[in-house]
Amino acid sequence: MTSHPRAGKNRLAPGLAALASLLAAAAWASPPPAAAPDGDGKLRIITFGAHPDDCELDTAGVAAKWSALGHKFKCVSVTNGDIGHAVIAGGPLALRRRAESRKAAQILGIETEVLDNHDGEVMVTLENRRKIARLIRDWQADIVISHRPNDYHPDHRYTGMLVADAAYMVQVPYFTPEVPPLARNPVFLFSEDRFQKPNPFSGDIVVAIDDVVDKKLAVTEAMESQFYEGGCCDVPAGGMPQDAAGKEARRKQVRDAFTARFASTTDRFRSRLAELYGADRAPGIKYAEAFEVCEYGRQPSKEEIRQLFPFFPAR
Ligand SMILES: [Zn+2]
Repeated sequence: MTSHPRAGKNRLAPGLAALASLLAAAAWASPPPAAAPDGDGKLRIITFGAHPDDCELDTAGVAAKWSALGHKFKCVSVTNGDIGHAVIAGGPLALRRRAESRKAAQILGIETEVLDNHDGEVMVTLENRRKIARLIRDWQADIVISHRPNDYHPDHRYTGMLVADAAYMVQVPYFTPEVPPLARNPVFLFSEDRFQKPNPFSGDIVVAIDDVVDKKLAVTEAMESQFYEGGCCDVPAGGMPQDAAGKEARRKQVRDAFTARFASTTDRFRSRLAELYGADRAPGIKYAEAFEVCEYGRQPSKEEIRQLFPFFPAR
């Protein structure tokens, strides 16, 4: 209910009083203004990974490609990675992993942010849903990428769930009203995984990353604590090498494993690559990244997918 001051008790000049009354009524009746869409024609993409390495592993290729075209890409790690190592943990590891994420961001030409949640402890809470929704709104995202909520790791699963929970709420004006809602619902995508139940990942969008694979491999090298040292659970048999030859062999082992992994996406989605790049070009593609369109958020047409991923040849 809105109350109006009686004319006799109003100390404001009549014109000002009318204006104040109008403003009060407007504030009551209207939702907070939606933020104006960015008019520079540049896309804005935000990826949420559970740990400092997930977003980089899943999207470094497309991140480098978007960035090279002047589009804006942000990588968010929802935890600080502070237990992702076999022999180090806590603050020192969190600082080290944050530094590695920053190095990766420099290589890719993107922004990065590591949220200060403990590794292994992400929960689907209202506070976290608000945090994710604010980050998507602040970034004015056109595209949001995260894990599918049936991933093996609880942090991946709950990060995926939090992003899915924010997919509708980013448009609701009075949900976290201190950050204006988005004028247009972003397209939400899932990054690739190998899980089969309740349904396998569908590679709706598959992007060739041959031209930037060296950058992606450089990112894996920059994230030493995770990949070179083996993270929590993949320490090289016999421990970390101490001599120069052993160190070089370990570096090569990591690089070869990732080269094979990035190539396996291409083999998995060869027919989709043929649809997107043409049957003549697809067989020559070596490395790729794949994405599934989430049923929540804006549903892009095939034409819009080509606008959002301006990497495919004209048909
Ligand atoms: Zn992870």
